[in-house]
Amino acid sequence: PGGKVTPVFSRALGFRDKTAIVDSSGSHTYRDLYARSRGLAGRIARTLGCESGDIGGQRISFLCANDASYSVAQWASWMCGGTAVPLYRKHPPSELEYITTNSQSSLLVAGHPYVDTLEPLARNLGLPCLQLPSTLDLPALETADTEGLVGDLAETDWDERPAMIIYTSGTTGRPKGVLHSHSSIQAMVQCLVSEWAWSEDDVILHTLPLHHVHGIVNKLLCPLSVGATCLMLPEFHPQKVWECLLSSKAPMVNVFMAVPTVYSKLIQHFEQHFSQPRVRDFVKAVCKERIRLMVSGSAALPQPILKRWEEITGHVLLERYGMTEIGMALSNPLRGHRTPGAVGAPLPGVEVRIVMTNSTNTTIAEGNSKETRVRPGLEGKEGELMVRGPSVFREYWNKPQETAEAFTDDGWFKTGDTAVYRDGVYWIMGRTSVDIIKSGGYKISALEVERHLLAHPHITDVAVIGVRDATWGQKVTAVVQLQRGASLSLAELKAWAREHMAPYTIPTGLVVVEEMPRNQMGKVNKKDLLKQFSPSL
Ligand code: ATP
Ligand code: MG
Repeated sequence: PGGKVTPVFSRALGFRDKTAIVDSSGSHTYRDLYARSRGLAGRIARTLGCESGDIGGQRISFLCANDASYSVAQWASWMCGGTAVPLYRKHPPSELEYITTNSQSSLLVAGHPYVDTLEPLARNLGLPCLQLPSTLDLPALETADTEGLVGDLAETDWDERPAMIIYTSGTTGRPKGVLHSHSSIQAMVQCLVSEWAWSEDDVILHTLPLHHVHGIVNKLLCPLSVGATCLMLPEFHPQKVWECLLSSKAPMVNVFMAVPTVYSKLIQHFEQHFSQPRVRDFVKAVCKERIRLMVSGSAALPQPILKRWEEITGHVLLERYGMTEIGMALSNPLRGHRTPGAVGAPLPGVEVRIVMTNSTNTTIAEGNSKETRVRPGLEGKEGELMVRGPSVFREYWNKPQETAEAFTDDGWFKTGDTAVYRDGVYWIMGRTSVDIIKSGGYKISALEVERHLLAHPHITDVAVIGVRDATWGQKVTAVVQLQRGASLSLAELKAWAREHMAPYTIPTGLVVVEEMPRNQMGKVNKKDLLKQFSPSL
């Protein structure tokens, strides 16, 4: 069948019987994915009364398991000219309602296990809800009569068409709907495909949620755009992930990407269950030989995780930095030296700037994938990271004021993150709003303090917050998770810190928690932590 099938999938038809996705129901070829997506696209267009097959950017919210049905729902939304809005199964009903109404969706698509979740919502909102059969039965979709309905949108139409609204993680407030066009999605995909050398021989293991750029773009659209294979697990389970990484059954995994907490859980599992030297040697040999790339991102990668992971697998994790609004912007290199704790250099096509956020707005450093120029005398100075390039989003959905405020007059997107350029690479110091602590005239990066505290032998996880204080402005306060059975007092922590840290960065408050409240993407909501702990400190 003819017709252009969106920029990201433009080569998909050529991959024919190659395996695109392996999930709990079996293998799905590129041909299967196409046929089923086309079938669903036809049903969507018909349900919305668009006989032309082009629903003109209307939003389709969909909730699917981590399997081929997700991909079918997303591609189908695109094939009929719609805007895909992925929902997440762990969102409570109120969040699902917020996203479907905020995005002004016209139709909901419920993956097999989520019909009972979405139907009542659809009824409440007066929206049609299409049900997807389980992936085993997906062929049923092919029978829908779709000839002439879809896949025939003019080729030139695509680039500026809206493609997706992806909601931010909500770490600093209510999640914002980030509108990406097909061209910005394609730009995100292209720069990673070239920089990380994706090829059709790759097999990636996918275990992350599919409502953020990390899961959607880096781990699903990148492989599918080049004809690679994506092995999808319904959810993250350390034992299953190890089994998949080590299995010699085809397709054998050679690429893995995750958030820091996932690596931490895999390490814990390894320490507890893989105790024999023979097993440990096997793990290292297999990982070294078979896997070509292991990436970490979405939150700062703690050094102890990086180090232990290298000991276990022989891989230095490649850390990169990105955001819903811009895709990936900075990355350590695929080949060559990866600087621990840093996020490398701009990806191809991405321009970055570090700007002083005072009245002067002086640019400290400005760079692209080839070079970074630093203003003389300002080496190593902190400022706000700004980004420009084809992967930058178009707008916050229905938030013209927030959109306008997010950009400078000359078109740079203000990330809200503080960064420095030092030793030839970029370092993320944290979110300007919560991670840059102002205490006694000093500006202290919570992320830097966390990096130090993680070296303490009893601390397994840490989040540093600035608690308001009448004398100091803010007090550096450490919320820590300790090794099982260990204890730590503030006096002990201070004594240790005096040996290892600059005096003004030493925490003056300490909270020990049973488990650090990190979300699925490995992020800590520091505003929540502050709310929870400030009153008692
Ligand atoms: P919201 O915008 O709703 O508050 P969020 O910013 O957490 O949520 P995302 O777009 O998913 O939503 O996350 C982007 C943020 O994640 C970045 O702004 C940055 O603070 C953080 N981040 C991503 N990668 C890294 C990294 N390698 N090191 C440190 N921080 C990172
Ligand atoms: Mg954000």
